[in-house]
Amino acid sequence: MKAVIVGGGILGTALAYRLTTEGVDVELFEAGRLGGATSAVGAGWLNSGGKEPFEYHILNVHGMAEYATLAREFGHAPWYHASGNLKWTTSDKADEIRAHAERLRSWGYPVELLSPKRVNEIEPCLRVPDDVTQVAHYPWEGLADLTQLIGALAQRASANGAEIHTNTRVASLVTEGDQVTGVTLADGTTVSADVVAMCTGRWSDEVARTAGVDLPMAPSLGFNIYTGPAPVVLTSMVHTPDVNFRPDGSGRVMARTKEFDDAVPIDGAVDPIPDVGKEILARAVKYLPGLEGVPIEGARVAYRSIPGDDRPVVGQVPGRPGLYLLVTHSGGTMGPLLGRLAALDIAHGERDTRLARFGPGRIVKV
Ligand SMILES: Cc1cc2nc3c(=O)[nH]c(=O)nc-3n(C[C@H](O)[C@H](O)[C@H](O)COP(=O)(O)OP(=O)(O)OC[C@H]3O[C@@H](n4cnc5c(N)ncnc54)[C@H](O)[C@@H]3O)c2cc1C
Repeated sequence: MKAVIVGGGILGTALAYRLTTEGVDVELFEAGRLGGATSAVGAGWLNSGGKEPFEYHILNVHGMAEYATLAREFGHAPWYHASGNLKWTTSDKADEIRAHAERLRSWGYPVELLSPKRVNEIEPCLRVPDDVTQVAHYPWEGLADLTQLIGALAQRASANGAEIHTNTRVASLVTEGDQVTGVTLADGTTVSADVVAMCTGRWSDEVARTAGVDLPMAPSLGFNIYTGPAPVVLTSMVHTPDVNFRPDGSGRVMARTKEFDDAVPIDGAVDPIPDVGKEILARAVKYLPGLEGVPIEGARVAYRSIPGDDRPVVGQVPGRPGLYLLVTHSGGTMGPLLGRLAALDIAHGERDTRLARFGPGRIVKV
C-alpha cells in the first residue's frame, strides 16, 4: 500500500512514522518546513482539563498516556516532560476551581489542591499571591516540545523508508470519478497513491475543496511571547488568572493569555514586539520575579486548526474513497495517539472504538 501524507506538522509526522511501522510505503509533502506552522506555536500542554464530552476527554487522556508509551519506545525522549500543571484563580473564584477538580476526579482524573507552601517545594521560583490559599495541581498533565518531537518522528519515518519532501506544496488532490488517486504538486507533478491522508491543519478546508469535499473549519488566533534565558527554574505549566506560562528551554519562558490571543491578526513571527507582548511579560514577572529585566526574544502568532464543531475529524471520507482526514485542535495532546490509531485504520481497516464519534461523516459534505 502506498500512502501520500499532505502536511508535516505533529499529525502528519506521527502518522508517517506509524504507517511505516505498519509496512505502508509513505511519501509526505510539506509546503514549508517540518513543524513550522501551528505546531511551532502550540503550547504543547498535554492535558484533558476541560474537555467534554466524556469521549473527547478520554481521547485526550489516552493522548497524554501515549507520550509515555512513545518515550519508552524511543528510549530517549527529550521532547516529553511529565511535569504537571499548576492553576489558581482569584480568591472570589476559588469555589469554581474546587468544583472543577471534583468533576475531573469523578472521571478518574487526578487533581490535588495544594497549599502555596507545597507549590514552592515543587516550583521554588514561583510567587503565588498572598490571597491564594489553594492551587490545583494536575499531576498527569505535562509538556511536549512539539517541533523537536516532529523532528524525531520524521527521522524515524525516514529511517523506515518514508520519503519526506519539504518546501513542496500540494496544489490539489487528484480524483478519478469519486476516488481520490493522488496529488498534484505545485510544479505540476502528479503522485499516485492508494490513500491520501490530509494532515493539513488549518488549511484543510482549502485542500479538501480541491476534491469537492466541504470541510468546515473554525480557526482562531493564538499569540505567544518567548523570553530570553532567565535565572529561573520552572518545570510545570502554570495557569494564573491573567497569564499562562511554561518553560521553553535554557531558562526561557513562553507566556500567553487568552485575552490577547487575537490582538495581532497576522500569521507567523511578530516583529517588532507589540505592547501586548510587553504586557504579557509584565504579568508573568508578578508570578516569576526572576523574569524581571529579561528581554522578549520573540513573539509568534498562529491559527488554531479547529474543525467547525471543535472536535477531531479522523477517518475515511464517505463518498471519496482514497481520502483520509486527520484534522484536530489539541493536536499537541492527541497527535501521537491519533497518528497511531489512524495508521491502524488506514493500513488494516482496524477502526478503534475511541474514534467512533469522530469520523468525517458527521461534518463533511461531498
Ligand atoms: C497558540 C496555540 C496554543 C496551543 N496550545 C496547545 C496546547 O497547549 N496543547 C495542545 O494539545 N494543543 C495546543 N494547540 C493546538 C496544537 O498546536 C495543534 O492542534 C497542532 O499543532 C496541529 O497540528 P497539525 O499537524 O494538524 O497542524 P500544523 O502544525 O499546522 O501542520 C499542518 C502542515 O500542513 C502543511 N500544509 C498545509 N497545506 C498544505 C499543502 N497544500 N501542501 C503541503 N503542505 C501543506 C502546513 O505547511 C503545515 O506545516 C495550540 C495551538 C495554538 C495556535
